[in-house]
Amino acid sequence: SIPLGLFAGIGGASRQGILVKGGNFLEILKDVDTIVFDKTGTLTEGKFSVTRIQPVHAEADALLELAAYGEAYSTHPIARSIVAAYGKPIENQKIRNYQEISGQGVEVEVDGRRLALGNAKLMQKHGIDCPSVDEIGTIIHVAQEGEYLGWLVISDGIKKTSKAAIRQLKQAGIRNTVMLTGDNRSVAEAVAGQIGIDTVYAQLLPQDKVEQVEKLLAAQPEGKKLAFVGDGINDAPVLARADLGVAMGGVGSDAAIEAADIVLMKDDPAALATAIQISRKTHAILR
Ligand code: ADP
Ligand code: MG
Repeated sequence: SIPLGLFAGIGGASRQGILVKGGNFLEILKDVDTIVFDKTGTLTEGKFSVTRIQPVHAEADALLELAAYGEAYSTHPIARSIVAAYGKPIENQKIRNYQEISGQGVEVEVDGRRLALGNAKLMQKHGIDCPSVDEIGTIIHVAQEGEYLGWLVISDGIKKTSKAAIRQLKQAGIRNTVMLTGDNRSVAEAVAGQIGIDTVYAQLLPQDKVEQVEKLLAAQPEGKKLAFVGDGINDAPVLARADLGVAMGGVGSDAAIEAADIVLMKDDPAALATAIQISRKTHAILR
């Protein structure tokens, strides 16, 4: 009977570390032809490290210290890497009025001076000129009281399994693999090129990601479904909007895991190809 077949499919998936929250999601999965990935933590490790400190109007030590104070309250992987690179205890009483600007960076007072650190968009918002840095990595600009102090480069490794995952998905007949990211275009294109992603949209704010997925949904061929794969708190609205939301279980935020229809416990994007095979096999048995 139908419920038994679907139970078998869900059971088979769960033995491979793929949690499917309902039989209807296996049905949708077999019709997926477009897979949209969030970059950070999904295709990349989400484990960042500071690979360069470039002061312009400061000493390198002072620049790193300021950046660490600025990021002390942020849970973003970029922030944690900066605090780790600093490596000394933080005196919390020096930090006031901390504010995280989603997809851009942070604004905060350190020692009574206003600090902004994040991407070029954030600098623009404060009317601060910053150099366009040509480096592979995420560039974090630092400005204090409206003065540009310098930049840090933060690098994130691509997951070892990402390239094979994209290849397997292509072999499974996925027409379009897409990557969305708030990160800068050069990093995005370098990552996409290395793993074989078809389409890249970079420098997106969280709300831009929702909009981009809506555009892609509107352009889908009749009867074909779109899946979104993400891990961040910011990804929850996109996970909810896609035909099928897939979260990374290990690194994923609670919000993402809750909003998702399918959870990949192994944090391996290749598990998605396995899930597609299971969904097709289940469907073939049901017919
Ligand atoms: P992704 O879309 O790759 O998951 P996010 O949306 O989390 O990335 O962040 C997009 C960009 O915003 C980052 O690449 C970085 O430039 C900036 N950013 C976000 N949070 C912070 C932070 N706490 N400190 C500095 N920059 C940040
Ligand atoms: Mg993210």
